Amino acid sequence: MSDKVVLAPCMGVGKVVANVTRRAAYLAHAACPEDTEILSLPALLAGDTAERRLVFEHPVVVIEGCVLRCASHVLRLVGAKPAAKIEVSRIIREKRLTPGRTRKELEASGKQLAQAVAERIALALADEPWGDSPAQPEAGTGCPCACSCSSSGRTPAEAPSPNQGVSQVHSLSPPAQPITDNLQSNGEPPPAQGLTLLPCQGIKRSGARIAQRTAYHLCEDEDKLLGQSQPLCVSALAAGVPEDVHYYRDFPTVALNGCPQNCATKIAELFGIPAVRSVNLYEAFPEYPCETRVLEPDLTPQESELARRWAEQLLPELQELLQQTRWQPRAHCTHGMVNDPVGIERFFGYQATSRGYDVPRAVHEPAAT
Ligand code: SF4
Repeated sequence: MSDKVVLAPCMGVGKVVANVTRRAAYLAHAACPEDTEILSLPALLAGDTAERRLVFEHPVVVIEGCVLRCASHVLRLVGAKPAAKIEVSRIIREKRLTPGRTRKELEASGKQLAQAVAERIALALADEPWGDSPAQPEAGTGCPCACSCSSSGRTPAEAPSPNQGVSQVHSLSPPAQPITDNLQSNGEPPPAQGLTLLPCQGIKRSGARIAQRTAYHLCEDEDKLLGQSQPLCVSALAAGVPEDVHYYRDFPTVALNGCPQNCATKIAELFGIPAVRSVNLYEAFPEYPCETRVLEPDLTPQESELARRWAEQLLPELQELLQQTRWQPRAHCTHGMVNDPVGIERFFGYQATSRGYDVPRAVHEPAAT
């Protein structure tokens, strides 16, 4: 085995299966702590150098929650390539398991599915090396889509250019396309019809775990912003998934940062529509060590309690923000990325192995001599 294999779950926030990938990564890492490391896709997108080194210096196993294949799209966006891919949707079919319906905290069926995914990861790890090598980062000069966005020179800008879902839970109205000018007769944008909440969604720092749970409380609890808010998935936004792009463009975004790296704020800026407000766990609870590494599959009791308290604390501020904000749908920067689940398969040349995971074709088809 390589000195370290990187596990890259899609780790989204919208679909239940995304939380299955997150849990599976924790379980697989716990079984092999010396030989694996978990990748934080949001930190990678936000330009974290340690996460960039992970994807360019080690083989990466992506774990896709659904066929939209966001983790593969993100790797393409930053110019990295996977060494193997595991699809939860395939394991759902094979094992006749379901992710369940709750994304805030997985039900027993979701946990069982995560265990099956972790076992598939272990199988893939036992087969390593797969014969391919990590990508080398290419020096870039600006945004690959030449859009002159403010993110030039940042992470995906440094990279070369490049359905079904499971248990998606929406509480705002369904996507309305395309962007149209909806200014009122007085020339002002109309009142915002809802908020998108963008938690930083990191997987290794305690503050990020709390931020994600806080967003769920705010969006799903009946006494909070249910029906007036929607969590925004970093991975799906980066992968150009239409629903998430819709929420990002058509509603003002509030960034929830779990630690002073402020990944949620950076990611909102990266795609061209900055957050109307950033709220920070480290300011709300300055005594809490939000950067502590925590890899427990379930939130600790202290994390759960802080998420509940932060949501309570944020509610009046966000209600006021919603009342005061006027919003006009606006264009975002895709960085050249369109969600193309079939095209991404072709781009990386994925092909199935008999062991229930995929590898890039080059592994099976060495160059002719
Ligand atoms: S939409 Fe993307 S982030 Fe969400 S489950 Fe599917 S692959 Fe994962």
